[in-house]
Amino acid sequence: MEKLIELDKKHFIHPTSSIKDQQANGAKLIIEKGEGIYLTDKKGDVYIDAMSSLWNVNIGHGNKELAEVAKEQMEKLAFSSTFSTFSHEPAILLAKKIADLAPSKLNAVFFTSGGSESNDSAFKLVRHYWKIQGKPERNKIVSLKRGYHGVAAASTSATGIPEFWDMAGHMESGFVHAETPYWEGTKTSIDSIREVIEAEGPETIAAFIAEPIQGAGGVLIPPNDYFKEVRKLCDEYGIVFIADEVITGFGRTGKMFGMENWDVQPDMMSFAKGVTSGYIPLGGVLVSDKIHDVMKDKSMGTLFHGFTYSGHPVAAAVALKNIEIIEKQGLVENACKMGEELLKGFKQIKNELNIVGNVRAVGLLGAFELVADPDTNKRFASDLKVAPRVIAALHERGVICRAVTYESTDIICFAPPLIINQEQINTV
Ligand code: PLP
Repeated sequence: MEKLIELDKKHFIHPTSSIKDQQANGAKLIIEKGEGIYLTDKKGDVYIDAMSSLWNVNIGHGNKELAEVAKEQMEKLAFSSTFSTFSHEPAILLAKKIADLAPSKLNAVFFTSGGSESNDSAFKLVRHYWKIQGKPERNKIVSLKRGYHGVAAASTSATGIPEFWDMAGHMESGFVHAETPYWEGTKTSIDSIREVIEAEGPETIAAFIAEPIQGAGGVLIPPNDYFKEVRKLCDEYGIVFIADEVITGFGRTGKMFGMENWDVQPDMMSFAKGVTSGYIPLGGVLVSDKIHDVMKDKSMGTLFHGFTYSGHPVAAAVALKNIEIIEKQGLVENACKMGEELLKGFKQIKNELNIVGNVRAVGLLGAFELVADPDTNKRFASDLKVAPRVIAALHERGVICRAVTYESTDIICFAPPLIINQEQINTV
């Protein structure tokens, strides 16, 4: 164990981590195995993975069916390109399956290896869509403050959490941010998108992107009418509406896709995480028939965009089996039912503790806020590090969840695997 920690310090640069902290304290958890909703570390300590790791292990850990499918597919065809006119059955069948599950007008998929690549691809495809229609000036992307869209060049820029741009400077120009509806309400935040569009020039805006529920920003649930108004605004200006379903896709919110909660159809949809429950990297972007038709009609020559692992056969086979399990086991319905229990638990904590402010959950995506005064929602001073201390205390009690502390908020987030049952959710 000591040896592993030393090697980790010396050779392993962890993503989204403090390098100083790693050097001072070493890796805190070296996870050895996972089963169901539980993770076990090398010391043998067992934890409830109340975050589904990175909001992604939807069907829970240690599912042998996925391992078997991966083995079978690797033995049959471990890799073959999908570039140009090459194709293979797992990718074709997965594209068809996702098109069947997605909103009715989204029927064509471009595959990637994860969420950041999916959003960067969405931005590139949408710029291409405008360019081939003779409108190359439509190239700006509007997104929301506190939105998280990934860490590749363009997705970093679309992300509305400045900490992500600060470390290396803003990666790209042409990305503008509007107010998030969670704090501002529908009218003010729709007005804010309109102001951004008008200030930049409507003829320069390619797309608007948002998560149905902002995950990494702190599980920020918009008012019920917000996305209907977004849809109207995008139609008014002829802007493409991209839903980032990387967290909310594949059952997380008690619907197959998060936008279904608001009964709104986007024009493009990015996904990743839950499509394979994290067993293997895969993501993608769905485009509407309208966009696909324009591309079919007007794209000339080669579409110069593609990843080596776009539609990887093993990842596609695993995704197909993962979706089959989600459907067979009724995990979307379970997320809905258990989400109500999670919210009940949050309300109970709120009644018992006078430092709990807003509590919320849609399906198994939930959070509660810690505040100095629940009546006024006055926040704690950030140097008190309230949320990180609560996370550490929960960790001591064997529960892994996540703190969100941007802009002096103290938010405790939960996103347990969709297989969680009544008894387990009571423990969380
Ligand atoms: N979009 C959303 C909403 C996410 O939550 C994430 C990751 O957490 C991403 C995009 C980026 O995905 P990835 O980390 O797979 O690149």
